[in-house]
Order: sequence, then C-alpha cells, then structure tokens
Amino acid sequence: MQVLYKSTRGKEKKVTASEAILKGLSEDGGLFVPEKIPALDVPMEQLADMSYQEVAFEVMSRFLTDFTEEELKECISRAYDEKFDTSQIAPLHEADGAYFLELFHGATIAFKDMALSILPHLMTTAAKKNQIKNEIVILTATSGDTGKAALAGFADVPGTRIIVFYPKNGVSPIQEKQMVTQKGQNTYVVGITGNFDDAQTAVKKMFNDRELARELDEAGFQFSSANSINIGRLVPQIVYYVYAYATLFREGKIKDREMINIVVPTGNFGNILAAFYAKQMGLPVNKLICASNENKVLFDFFGTGTYDRRREFVLTSSPSMDILISSNLERLIYRIAGNDAQKCSLLMKNLSEQGEYTITEEMKGQLEDFCGYFCSEEETAKTIARIYQNSSYVIDTHTAVAAGAYKKYVNDTGDGTPAVIASTASPYKFTRSVMEALGVSTAGADDFALADQLSVISKVAVPRAVEEIRTAPVLHDRVVDAPDMPAAVKEILGIR
Ligand SMILES: *Cc1c(COP(=O)(O)O)cnc(C)c1O
Repeated sequence: MQVLYKSTRGKEKKVTASEAILKGLSEDGGLFVPEKIPALDVPMEQLADMSYQEVAFEVMSRFLTDFTEEELKECISRAYDEKFDTSQIAPLHEADGAYFLELFHGATIAFKDMALSILPHLMTTAAKKNQIKNEIVILTATSGDTGKAALAGFADVPGTRIIVFYPKNGVSPIQEKQMVTQKGQNTYVVGITGNFDDAQTAVKKMFNDRELARELDEAGFQFSSANSINIGRLVPQIVYYVYAYATLFREGKIKDREMINIVVPTGNFGNILAAFYAKQMGLPVNKLICASNENKVLFDFFGTGTYDRRREFVLTSSPSMDILISSNLERLIYRIAGNDAQKCSLLMKNLSEQGEYTITEEMKGQLEDFCGYFCSEEETAKTIARIYQNSSYVIDTHTAVAAGAYKKYVNDTGDGTPAVIASTASPYKFTRSVMEALGVSTAGADDFALADQLSVISKVAVPRAVEEIRTAPVLHDRVVDAPDMPAAVKEILGIR
C-alpha cells in the first residue's frame, strides 16, 4: 500500500515519501502529512522478539513506501549502530511508578539523535531515488543542541555537507565546545557576531534566495534543511514508542492489547505527535500527556482551545522546550479540522498575523486523546530531587518536567494505567541545573568537575559524549558577521 504525502495548507500536489524528505517544508508553507496512517499489522508476540532495528523497519517501511526494503534496512543499520552506547538503542528504566524511555543514548546524549542519526541516510537515499546529482548542503542555525545533533548525524555521510551557524556569545561553553570540536571532512561550524534570531533569519533568507540557489546548482550543490518538521525526522520517532510497548510486553509488565499512557516533555510538538501517530497505527495507547515548562502555550491550548503566543518568553532550566510556536502542532490541527487544508491555513494565518487562534468546539472534541500539564521551575527541581531520593535515579530537567506533570495527572485522575515517560536528555547534558536541584553547590565548579561529581551521585559513568570533548582539539574557529553568512557559505563550498 503506497502512502503519499500532502500539505496541511493544501496547495501542493501529493508527493512520495522521498520527495517529502527532500523538500522538508511544502512550497505553500505547509507541513507534509501522510494521507492515511498505516496500520501496525504485526502481532505483538512478533514485535516483542525483534531488535530495535527490526522494529524500526516494520514501522518505517509502512510510512516510507517508496523506499525499497534494501534501502531502508541500509539506512537503519547505518543509523542505529555503535554511535549508541547500548544495543537496545532506547532502553526502559522503571522508577517512580513509571517507565522512563531513555532516548539519550546516542552521540549527543539527547533525543534529537534518535531522528538525526537516520535523517542523513534517508536524505541521500531519497536524492538517489529522485535522480538528484547535486551534493546536499545542510544549512542550520542553532541556539545550541540541534546543531550538534545534526553535525553528529551528517558527519562524513557521503554526498552531504553540513554548515552550522551559532551565536558566538549565545550558547553555553559546553555547547560551543561540542560544536567546535566536531570531526568530519564535511562539517563546518561558524560563529556569528549576532544573536540566534540574526542567524536564523539569515539562514531562512539563503533558503529563499533564487540567485544563490542557481549559483549553487551550477557548482553541483543544493540546500536542504534538517529541521524538526521534516517527515524524515517524524517517522523515526514513532519507532521507539512501538519498541517500548513491545519491550514491556516481552518483560511481562503488560499484557497484549493492554493500554499504556505516554508522557512527553514538549516543545515543538514533534515527539508527542510521533506518539499520536503510533496510537493511530493501532498501538494500544490511552492518554498522551503533553508536559510543558513555564512556556505553557500548549497547556493553555489543551485547556481552552485557544493557542496564544502573545506572552512573555521565559528562559527555563529546560531550554529545549522554551518555545512559543510549536510548529508540529499544525499537523494535529489539520487532522482535527477533518483534513481540511483551508480551515488549517486560516488558523495558521491568524497565528502569524494576530499571534493567536481558537479552534471550534467540534475540533476541541477531537482532542480527547491529549491532556496538557505543566511544571514550574520549582516543581521541576523538586521532581529531580524526589525521584533521586526515592529511586536513586537521576533525571534531567526536561524529563523532570514530564515526570512532574505525570504526578499531577495521576493525582487529578487516579488513572493507574502503566505509563511510559519520554526521557529526552541525559542528566549529563544539563549537569549544572541537575546538581542544583539535588542541592549540590555548583559555584566555581566547571562543567566537567560537576560531571565527575554527578557520576559519584548517580552511579552512572560519565558518557562518552562528555568525555570526548574534555580534551578534544578545537577544529572550527571561523567567526563572521551575520550579513556575511552567504559569503561564508560560498567560500566553504569553493564557489568563486
Ligand atoms: C527538542 C527537545 C524536546 C522537545 O521535543 P519536541 O519534539 O520539540 O516537542 C524536549 N527535550 C529535549 C531534551 C529536547 O532536545
């Protein structure tokens, strides 16, 4: 059964999965959605015996239907290999009355690795399938984490280059060190003298610059984007929810067809949307609990039906969730609008022009799979301390937002359905905030010293990702002003 993809704004014709991956965003500004969600028609007994890679094939082959079996298996085996520090890829840890699905065992110890380790392979395969001869140049502006995960994913992947721009004085010392020590013949990291918005704006401008596209094409290159709305990032994220269910079933923690709840610390709405798609495929999921930090746009949305970004942006200890526009929500809006692209476009127009929109009662009635909760900074820190005291398990700030939200949900509802909590980052990625939450004084200690202390407390070894940058040489030292970014790109690519 062939699955095609159409735009949530409806102006573009249907495309194949590989075309959607190459395009990223639809030309009408919409997001690609599968025209139907395929069924997960594999018995649970069978899934339970499979490796992560085998489950990945079962799930992804149902969505990426124009990839051959051989192509997809090749992508999967290149992605989920020794870059991960466990052969389970996404192991479960039972603590605090829930199952933490650890999505942080990849190259940069955060959940973006789950998708960004396979996206480069999907993209180069898609290019071959569509007779694209140009080398693919990934352009990214980053405020820290995504840049590093994309660099790690694309490093030394034949047929690609990756150029990452970051605000020279706008990322943490560890984040900067992670990026400027990046290995790989095809990786380029450029600091800019402006802030993140300057970098982001300049990157968007380059994507839309037709003259630049022509010059690139003549030299044998074309731009592509690795951002989180790409269907090639969404589909690989469905896999670990199926794998988690299969693991719980194999271990006798749940019976076949028994319902589970899924709790996801949410920013751009990509990870939780993947859980929703898993449910649509037929995975027995009851509630999807959407956890926000103090930037609680989504909590308000699920409560009131109004999405309102006109509010103060709060800097929290879970920075990867500090987001006021959750791009992937558009895919859910489209669906609850009855796959009506016109309705969806109108709401999105309202969001960009007025900064808000309100869905109809009828649409709201279709949100019963979801419920929103949020955690304040204080609740987040207390959750880290509580779970450590009760279970000797140290979680990071993002995961703590989810664990705290889940506790509130259980208190409110008494729902005892087994729950899987998406654990999106290693505590070693946000060591300082985690140590402060545990009541350890961090003043004067550098991040590596704190990591050593954390390993004593948590009895978990310092991950390779942290050890590696401790002594790694700086390989990238280019710094430019934001207006000079296009010139830097041309220089890097050797164009005139
Ligand atoms: C990106 C990220 C999130 C948010 O995921 P979305 O798919 O954007 O909702 C949560 N936690 C961590 C650590 C992240 O890096």
